[in-house]
Amino acid sequence: MKRISKLFLYFLAFSIFIPFSNQAQEEQEPSSQEDMVKTLTGGVPNGRWKEGLLFDGVRPMPWMKSAANWFPGTEEVQPEEIRVTFMGTAPLIRPGQMNTSIFVELGNGDSFVFDLGEGSVANYTAARVALNQINHVFITHLHVDHFGALPYLWMFRTWNGGWHQPLTVHGPSGRTPEYGTATMVEGMKMMTGWHQDAFSVFPSGKGWDIQVNEFDFRDNGGVVYEKNGVKITHWQRSHAKDGASAYRLDWNGMSVVWTGDGRPNELDVEFAKGVDLYITELQQEVVEINSGVQGVPPFLARYTIDTHHSPAYGVGYVANKIQPRMLMTTHQDFDPFLNEEVVAEVREHWKGPYRFGAPDGIVVNITKESIWVREGILPDYPNTRAPQFNFDNGQLVVPLPTTSREEIQEPFVREKQIDPKLYYPEGYHPELLENWPVDSDLVVPIENLPENLRKNMGAHWEYSIKNRKILEER
Ligand SMILES: [Zn+2]
Ligand SMILES: [Zn+2]
Repeated sequence: MKRISKLFLYFLAFSIFIPFSNQAQEEQEPSSQEDMVKTLTGGVPNGRWKEGLLFDGVRPMPWMKSAANWFPGTEEVQPEEIRVTFMGTAPLIRPGQMNTSIFVELGNGDSFVFDLGEGSVANYTAARVALNQINHVFITHLHVDHFGALPYLWMFRTWNGGWHQPLTVHGPSGRTPEYGTATMVEGMKMMTGWHQDAFSVFPSGKGWDIQVNEFDFRDNGGVVYEKNGVKITHWQRSHAKDGASAYRLDWNGMSVVWTGDGRPNELDVEFAKGVDLYITELQQEVVEINSGVQGVPPFLARYTIDTHHSPAYGVGYVANKIQPRMLMTTHQDFDPFLNEEVVAEVREHWKGPYRFGAPDGIVVNITKESIWVREGILPDYPNTRAPQFNFDNGQLVVPLPTTSREEIQEPFVREKQIDPKLYYPEGYHPELLENWPVDSDLVVPIENLPENLRKNMGAHWEYSIKNRKILEER
């Protein structure tokens, strides 16, 4: 009986769906030229009128899989394109908004991290960025919501393939050396001493040789980084204490600014003038309401804004002077009760394209012709991307670990380990790998690597070679 009713259901399903899905359409007489033009261009401005207030040059690119959403791993950055992803968007960390971090990828394969707030690494992982792809981190200032994830990145980047290129941290000096980026990194070395030594039973290579590029915070317009046609400059921001900076990245005739935190400033107008994507931070004028919601006393919020941050009105005012192709704001609470207030305040002075760089996962694609902002779909339980290697020399090199358990652990506690025979079931006993299996660097020609390893670990290398060739030919 059961079987019969199941068959009946199958039959019903087929009889309903097959006629629609498989029936070929009969060929019909084509419509008149006039009718085709009328319908295919109906509602399209075609230069007859201007549509919308914000949409000059704001349109999706044809290579996008979806114009509404970005799905990690489904789209390559095009040779002439810049892609910006907001990996952390708030000063007060919460599950939907990690501390501030902005990821900039260029069509030549280079990528740059601007600020690396607490929790943002989870979003890098969800966006399928391997930690050993992050080689340059630019810190705007040393408030911990802008660099809190640095120790984690440094340690786990080294563990997962960060062996051949050291991490470089770029950041401003302080008024005295103790407040500069170099001193912060020295402190971080001390803080991670145990961790580093413990992880030295794994390959580390150059992983622990962290580099610091501390620049003079007063050198407004100074160049922090210049390579492969990429130029990154900086200027001071007024953020209560000396040693807060803004950055501007220029590449291939396009530019992105991240101001970091600070009060609206003439220097922003001077150095960000005409930028393509202007990203700044913002606070709205509903201190009393917002304080109640966020649980911050109003006087503390008001004082914090007036000494440290950009009111939304000020953001609009500065944007109008700069005239970017797109204004974005981040480092802001993304809450329905605030969002429209924010827009209204920004709009007092800025009538051009404006989007939120919040919540986490917002993605911006930029070419010379178009700019488009989408929601990125970042999964809660992603797999991590395989570490990415440069196989220019045709080899995978796994450095020999510099230490062993015997060297960093007294025998007592190791001898107290329970014999695995007591807990593995009968008939099952894996071959334990208790000592590093080789006694020198492991060097494997890429042709000897299993196909899936070579493809996964060389994916970004192959992509960069392909795009750089295209860029050179143009
Ligand atoms: Zn901040
Ligand atoms: Zn700050």
